[in-house]
Amino acid sequence: MSYFSRVMDQISKITSDAMCPVCRKKSKQSITKISREEVVVCPHCHARFIVHA
Ligand SMILES: [Zn+2]
Repeated sequence: MSYFSRVMDQISKITSDAMCPVCRKKSKQSITKISREEVVVCPHCHARFIVHA
């Protein structure tokens, strides 16, 4: 594994709290997805939503 992909792998493991707009519970979501405004799934109610960074 190259240095670059190892760094990317570490970054993808960094999470941030995101609040679900449906059930209003907090969950850990990848900051990569948050920064790219990708759809994340709530682990509590399985709703899909976008976290705006
Ligand atoms: Zn939810």
